[in-house]
Amino acid sequence: MLAEARARDAADPLRDYRARFDLPQGVIYLDGNSLGALPKATAGRMAQVIRGEWGEGLIRSWNSADWIGMPQRVGGKIAPLIGAAPDEVIACDSTSVNLFKLIAAALRMQPGRKVVLSEPGNFPTDLYMIAGLEAQGLAERRLVPRERIAGALDGDVALLLLTHVHYKTGAVFDMAALTRAAHEAGALVLWDLSHSAGAIPVDLNGCGADFAVGCGYKYLNGGPGAPAFAYAARRHHEALEQPLTGWMGHAAPFAFSDDYAPAAGVDRLLTGTPPILGLAALEVGIELAAEIGIERLAAKSRALSEFFRTCLDRAGVELDLVSPADPEQRGSQLSFRHPEAYAICQALIARGVIGDFRDPDILRLGFAPAYVSFEDVAQAAQHLAEVLKTGEWQREEFRERAAVT
Ligand SMILES: *Cc1c(COP(=O)(O)O)cnc(C)c1O
Repeated sequence: MLAEARARDAADPLRDYRARFDLPQGVIYLDGNSLGALPKATAGRMAQVIRGEWGEGLIRSWNSADWIGMPQRVGGKIAPLIGAAPDEVIACDSTSVNLFKLIAAALRMQPGRKVVLSEPGNFPTDLYMIAGLEAQGLAERRLVPRERIAGALDGDVALLLLTHVHYKTGAVFDMAALTRAAHEAGALVLWDLSHSAGAIPVDLNGCGADFAVGCGYKYLNGGPGAPAFAYAARRHHEALEQPLTGWMGHAAPFAFSDDYAPAAGVDRLLTGTPPILGLAALEVGIELAAEIGIERLAAKSRALSEFFRTCLDRAGVELDLVSPADPEQRGSQLSFRHPEAYAICQALIARGVIGDFRDPDILRLGFAPAYVSFEDVAQAAQHLAEVLKTGEWQREEFRERAAVT
C-alpha cells in the first residue's frame, strides 16, 4: 500500500500544503479534529503581534493595528467557509459561550415557546448549555434520537439545536432538510459547526439557517483554546437580543454610557475585550484554509478516509465502523467501536500514531486534509493492523486512563 500511497501523494493537488505546517518528526497526526496542527506562519505572526503591536505599539495598536476590528475581520474570513456573508459572522468567546448567547437570543425571539430540541449524545457542552438555561427558567430541554427529530418539531419547540457533524460518529445531518422542517414548525435552528468548519462545505445561507456556532481550534487550526465564532442570519440582526450584554457589544462602547444599547448587526454578540493574541493565531489558520479552499479540503478528506478503509481491508482488519460508510454522509473522521478502544488508542500513540478515544468504546481517527498525507494513512493502517494482530494493546501501560483523553 505504501507505493500506492506515495503515488497518490505525488498526484495530490494539496501535497505542498503539508510543508506549511509544523509537524513533529515521527508522528502521524490523526487528531486534527480535536486540536488542529500548527501552521508555520503562526509563530512569526505571533512574534509580530507580541513584539511589534503589543510591545512597541502598546495601547495605540487598538487603532493602528486595528485590534478593535479583529472579531469582525476574522469572522468575515470564516464566512466563505460556511456559506455566510462576512457581516454575519463574528469571532469571539468560546463555542460554549456563543451557544449560551444564541440559545438565549433565539428563545427571546419565540414568545410562548420554551423547548430547545436536540439529540441525546450531542456534544456535552451543547446539552449542558441548554440545561443551564433550563435551570434559569428560560428553556425546556427536549432530547429525541436523531431519526425522530423531524417528528418531534411541534408548536412548543422554540429552537432546534444540532451539531452538524457528530463528534463521535462523524455522521452529518441534512442541514437543508432539517432547517426547512424546523421552520415549517415555527422553530428556529442553531447549528454547531465545530466538526464541519474547515473540513466540509457548509451552506448556512443556502439552507436558510438562523444561527450557528463553531470552533476555532479544530479544522481551522487556530491553536489551543482559540476563539470560536458565531453566525446570525442578517434577517435576525435587528431582533437579536443576547443576555451577555457586555460593553464590547454596545453600540458605542467608548461613550461609557450607563445604559446598554446593542451594537448593529453581529457586533452585538460581542461581550468583553477581544483576545487579540488568540485572534491573531486563528486568523493565520483561517487564511490557510481559505487559500486551499473548502471544496478541495473536503475532496481530499473523503479520499483519505476511503483510502484508510481500503488499507484496513487489504490488511485483513475487521473493525466495527460506526461512521457512515458513505463518505458524503460523514465529516472528516472515521470512528470504530471496540471494547478495548482506549488501550488500542494508547498503543497507537506509543507508535507515534495520534488519534483519540471517545468514551466508552470509540477509537476516533481524524483525517485533517490540509496536512495528512496518503502515506500517513497507509502507515497508520499498518500500525493499527499490527497493534490488533500482536495484541500489543493488552500491555498494562496502555490501560491507565489519563485526565484528558
Ligand atoms: C469541540 C466542540 C465544542 C467546543 O466547545 P468549547 O467551548 O470550545 O470547549 C463545542 N461543540 C462541539 C460540537 C464540539 O465538537
